[in-house]
Amino acid sequence: MGIVDRTVKPSFSKSLFLGQMASEIVMPYPVFDPAEKVRVDASVASARDFLSNTYDPWKAERDGWVGDDVIRELGERKLTGLFIDEKYGGLGLSQSGYCRVMEEFGRVDGTLSVVMGVHQSIGSKPLYLYGTEEQKERWLPDLAAGRKLAAFVLTEPNVGSDAFHLETRAERQGDGSWLLNGEKRWIGNGDKDVLTVFAQSELGHVALIVEKGMEGLSTGPRFQTLGLKANHLQRVHFNNVRVPAENLLGEPGDGFRIAMNTLNNGRMSMGTAISGGMKQFMQLSLEHTTQRAQFGRALIDFELVEDKIAWMNTQIYGLESMSYLTTGLVDRGTADFALESALTKIAASDTGWYALNRAVQVHGGEAYMDDHPLSKAIRDFRIFPIFEGSNDVLRAFVALNGLKALSEDLPDVAALKLSEPAKALGVIGPYIAGRVNRALRPEKLAGVHPALAKQAAAVAEQTVELRDHAEAALRRYGKNVQEKQLVQKRLSEAASGIYAQVAVISRISGVLKREKGEIADGASHGRSAADVAAEKTVAVNFCKRAAREVGRQLRGLEVNDDRYTRAIGTRVRETNGYGYSL
Ligand SMILES: Cc1cc2nc3c(=O)[nH]c(=O)nc-3n(C[C@H](O)[C@H](O)[C@H](O)COP(=O)(O)OP(=O)(O)OC[C@H]3O[C@@H](n4cnc5c(N)ncnc54)[C@H](O)[C@@H]3O)c2cc1C
Repeated sequence: MGIVDRTVKPSFSKSLFLGQMASEIVMPYPVFDPAEKVRVDASVASARDFLSNTYDPWKAERDGWVGDDVIRELGERKLTGLFIDEKYGGLGLSQSGYCRVMEEFGRVDGTLSVVMGVHQSIGSKPLYLYGTEEQKERWLPDLAAGRKLAAFVLTEPNVGSDAFHLETRAERQGDGSWLLNGEKRWIGNGDKDVLTVFAQSELGHVALIVEKGMEGLSTGPRFQTLGLKANHLQRVHFNNVRVPAENLLGEPGDGFRIAMNTLNNGRMSMGTAISGGMKQFMQLSLEHTTQRAQFGRALIDFELVEDKIAWMNTQIYGLESMSYLTTGLVDRGTADFALESALTKIAASDTGWYALNRAVQVHGGEAYMDDHPLSKAIRDFRIFPIFEGSNDVLRAFVALNGLKALSEDLPDVAALKLSEPAKALGVIGPYIAGRVNRALRPEKLAGVHPALAKQAAAVAEQTVELRDHAEAALRRYGKNVQEKQLVQKRLSEAASGIYAQVAVISRISGVLKREKGEIADGASHGRSAADVAAEKTVAVNFCKRAAREVGRQLRGLEVNDDRYTRAIGTRVRETNGYGYSL
């Protein structure tokens, strides 16, 4: 049996490229049902207790491993099997619940959040999503309890972003088993217990469960890294490793989809883990700038310092809103959340880095000292825009998928029934001659609280503009649009800004409606009117900033320096360097 996708609702972000606002997907903002909230709160409290009273990130860094004792205790607290079903010994939390707990790890230590992410978000996830009942019964209980750790084994020396062209080979044997040969690199938990290994076979890509101790499997030497020093990053070698038939996930040929869907699903926890990290950066900045005085006053009394902290606050709010809207899509059964997951990962990893930069700035020389938490964070957080899908590749992925959806919506190309983005865009050229359809009317985001009417109207306008610009790009560049990454980046950034605003409007609408008693779902936080008003200020501030950025990106499609950029880039390549002297 091949993999069957749950087809329930279409992608929200793809609809943005069509100029449509699929309100039913994003409104109302998702909240935990009361029963799950109790369980999530308990796990969050347990994680906080462990992280503040037992776990020592500096010791983990010195030891080069978070510690077997740490894994054992996390397992006893059931924090290693957060989304795994209760029948296998996990907690059975929703995607939102899982990601809420991951936020706690990200707040305290980038490394531990990555080790937990590798084990759960991408290590155990393929089994959870695609394992048969027998496979789940066999492996999930040990993984849920932390008795075993999982790894996601995709990257190879010659295969990074282009994960389709794997060189590791799996040959099917007469008895149905697989003979695995090849080398993988940069694998977190690669020397641990349960490895989902992706390989090429004559029947297409396969995903195989390989267990520690199998003959022909070896690891090492371990990589020494800039940061995340307590994450065991390994080379993994397969020399005629015989993998039993029953260790195949899905069917032969499903491997690539399993890898990509796992990453789509797993990327979300990076959004919330980085939100947690950003909260910590802001807290440290607040404490430092309140306590330290220069020129006779606390640093925070200077506008340029306060500005950075206010910026962090607003960005955390936006990222948090986006992250939990995305996890909510999964929990609501939305079939296609790949674009939202990618947009969340891009926004989290970039914004987290910018927030860290600001936090370091307001600490002055303090944060440059080796033993400062921000110094460690610089080393730990820099990888986020690179792994689990490099941000550049994901931007192109979002734009090409949006453009493909739009191409199918254009009357003059609809008959083509295009499928793959690259192939589809490759045959658009001859068909496009018409003018951009400017008759589209902005679609309102339904269910918005009246206090956010202005922001909702603005985001509806931006969506129409996104479609206009996307259509113009398709018509201007034809099939060549797939090579126009500067165009793709702007479209993707615009979609990201729109999605983030929608997330914020959806969230704050829920808050305001609860305050007025218009929603009674038990999610009320019982906050004062002043708190709610302050939250609305942050939400509006986020929307204003994001709207300006969307406008900037879309204007950049018309007025830009791309010609110069290309000419300079070409010249640099020709001269093989800087090429000018005084
Ligand atoms: C600390 C760490 C942990 C990791 N953990 C794991 C793990 O557990 N399991 C695993 O399988 N892998 C893991 N990886 C590998 C990681 O997923 C890859 O590093 C990542 O996929 C990018 O591949 P690459 O580094 O080979 O970069 P490349 O693919 O060589 O790309 C380098 C850069 O080129 C640009 N680029 C590449 N392609 C394009 C394109 N089409 N368009 C525009 N720009 C492009 C991007 O800027 C990109 O960042 C880990 C890596 C690190 C460093």
